Amino acid sequence: MSTLQEKMFEELKDGSLFQKAESYGLSYLSEVLNRNVYPSSEAIDKLAEFEEVLPVESGDAHALITRLHSYGSPATVAQVGGRYFGFVNGSVIPAGLAAKNLSIFWDQNSAMQVISPICSKLEMVVQNWLIELLGLPKSVVAGFVSGTSMANFCGLAAARYRLLKNKDWDITEQGLFDAPKLRVVTCRQAHSTILKAISLVGLGKGNIEWVDVDAQGRIIPEQLPELDDSTILILQAGNVNSGAFDDYSKICKKAKAAGAWIHIDGAFGLWAGATTRLKHLTKDYEYADSWAVDGHKTLNTPYDSGIILCDDAEALTASLHMTGSYIIKGDERDGMYYTPEMSRRSRIIELWATLRYLGKKGIDELICGLHDRAQLFAEEISRTPNFKVLNEVVFNQVLVQCETDELTEAVMYEVQKLRECWVGGSSWQNKKVIRVSVCSWTTTDADILRSVHSFHKAMEIIRA
Ligand SMILES: *Cc1c(COP(=O)(O)O)cnc(C)c1O
Repeated sequence: MSTLQEKMFEELKDGSLFQKAESYGLSYLSEVLNRNVYPSSEAIDKLAEFEEVLPVESGDAHALITRLHSYGSPATVAQVGGRYFGFVNGSVIPAGLAAKNLSIFWDQNSAMQVISPICSKLEMVVQNWLIELLGLPKSVVAGFVSGTSMANFCGLAAARYRLLKNKDWDITEQGLFDAPKLRVVTCRQAHSTILKAISLVGLGKGNIEWVDVDAQGRIIPEQLPELDDSTILILQAGNVNSGAFDDYSKICKKAKAAGAWIHIDGAFGLWAGATTRLKHLTKDYEYADSWAVDGHKTLNTPYDSGIILCDDAEALTASLHMTGSYIIKGDERDGMYYTPEMSRRSRIIELWATLRYLGKKGIDELICGLHDRAQLFAEEISRTPNFKVLNEVVFNQVLVQCETDELTEAVMYEVQKLRECWVGGSSWQNKKVIRVSVCSWTTTDADILRSVHSFHKAMEIIRA
């Protein structure tokens, strides 16, 4: 045995290395709720410590973990805490995080049942739970992917397969050259990853038939072009700025009758369909053909976790299919048939644990809680004439504007500098806005008030 092998056996058996990592992690968790949300410039500058040449000799694992903690932890963004409102992210539910921690020791590959029976079983179970929870047709299948970018890609790949197959064209064999032309219809505020997916599946962004949106960012049903059996229609559940939901009742049945494929990008919004109070936002979304949703955003699973749900198992699996002489088909479920990857980490474990822990009531409370605190933010920030909320806060997103674009930007940067909370910018109806996305279960009413206070303080500093 080489000395390196001996050293690694020792590290594996001795356990103190893992205890060290865990104890650093625990000390991180004990501080993360109260520390500055964004790392200090000093902490960011110290990241230069990582700029080193790859050592020739194997090193000391304990020293490496200490190094990672010393320079890495302070340079993280406190997304786990309750005052990070940037982009559309999310915290972690402790049970999901703990389940992930156990599963990292297993290092399972969830490609096939024969490779990991536990992953195969949990994927089956969660697929069934999701159908019930979200009120989707029983025939829906789920693929567990890295995020909604990938889920959107899978949905469009399935759509492309089915619409062409209906015209006796097998995309997997014949490819796109000389294939019957497909149409893509989506709204002007489709998420950038939708555009990426359209381009990845070879449909071409230049071919998109754009549809205007209303003042809340919802596709205007009356402005949809005539749909047909060559059309992929892409809707959204949760506009990335306003959080608005498209009107599925007005659109879906008609689109389906015309033979179109409907894909819904519901990265953070689809979970509204699992609630009592917000379910109305997703009314009739079950008439779509495919849905993309993230675990790692509003559901608060660890990264990376996305799901493609598809009511056409054949289209999904045929479009993502791979074969090989060494492939042994399982009796239950081989996860790789539902995703582009073969080897995949076992993200299903955290997703299973999060859903199992919360239960239906807990999921309802989590999602509605994000909405309630977004509303509280909107209410509190609009108390002074300095700030205006531009959107109807139907879900978890609040768009805040000051008197001028310059002031809006200046306030945003000042809020970021204060580090009490973190918010990013966007534009809405050609105006600069500060976008507040409430995505974390850890956000309390006190966090909201403290963050609103930080907005006021930022305004004072700028005005002074
Ligand atoms: C975040 C987001 C995506 C992309 O999801 P990832 O998980 O980051 O890949 C797509 N659509 C919408 C509406 C989003 O908010």
